[in-house]
Amino acid sequence: MLRISIYDLILRHTFTISRSAKKISQTIIVEFEHENVIGYGEASPSPRYNESIDTIKLFYDKLNLDDFKDPLNLDDILCHINKIASGNYSAKAGIDIALHDWFGKKEGVSLWKKWKLQKSKIPITSFTIGIDSLDIISQKIAEAEKYPILKVKLGVDNDLEIISKIRKLTDKPIRVDANEGWKIKEEALQKILWLEKQNIEFIEQPMPSSQLADIKWLHDRVKIPFIADESVSRLEDINKLIGIFDGINIKLMKAGGLREAIRMIGQAKEFGLKIMLGCMIETSIGISAAAQLLPLADYADLDGNLLITNDPFEGVKYEDGILILSDEPGLGVRKRT
Ligand code: MG
Repeated sequence: MLRISIYDLILRHTFTISRSAKKISQTIIVEFEHENVIGYGEASPSPRYNESIDTIKLFYDKLNLDDFKDPLNLDDILCHINKIASGNYSAKAGIDIALHDWFGKKEGVSLWKKWKLQKSKIPITSFTIGIDSLDIISQKIAEAEKYPILKVKLGVDNDLEIISKIRKLTDKPIRVDANEGWKIKEEALQKILWLEKQNIEFIEQPMPSSQLADIKWLHDRVKIPFIADESVSRLEDINKLIGIFDGINIKLMKAGGLREAIRMIGQAKEFGLKIMLGCMIETSIGISAAAQLLPLADYADLDGNLLITNDPFEGVKYEDGILILSDEPGLGVRKRT
């Protein structure tokens, strides 16, 4: 049996990136119940990928799992779900995550253990600083004190001013995410050449995914690594990025869940691409799900649950920026009481 509920997640600060701003982020929590075991999943829609709460509800209305008597047939069920409609990847992720959680609980094992991953190999997660006034950015830098790596959103007119301000406050490593905000390659080049002198670790999605040739032009002229985010959702997107990006940001909500994310990690590693695990604004369900794969990642950007004030669930914990995976079965999440 499948149940869904909609939650309004309240953001600590209005969350502004190059294309949007929001104070509340809606998400859907999925509960898959079978043989008295409940698996939790989450679908956090992004308009960038043509999804909303309504599209997720419509997708779930079309879903009928009655033909599948045994949820342990995970691959068969997920293949079936994938064929219901194209796109709808956060909706698909919601089911994929819930089934994986159910499967882990049924077998009494946490997913990372089931996949024989090592808890000790987890990269430090970055903490996101959204676009804001310079005063608020200073406040956010102070609030982020316990996080050793910052991910700074750029892609606006005063990008250099933002980084200059932050560099006056801290010498922590900074990762920049332009969220497709730079549209003219020559201007982007000038910004990146300046950023290269500011101890920036890499740049995520400097230009729109539709301008891949411009991104290649840029990549050929700079030293700083590029990580693809909006340019890559699923396995089939990876091939075209070779020689243009140095790594990919995998998010369960873009990929359609853990199953596809694992396939992507294998393929990207074969091509020598670095792996980043990222997220949308999500509760501890989505974050704990992605965190199961962290031992396979080079970079972690799993802070969506830290940016909200009313997470209805608890799961992974953070110690000095390192996510601590739970030994509890499945995702290791539970409802907050
Ligand atoms: Mg990004």
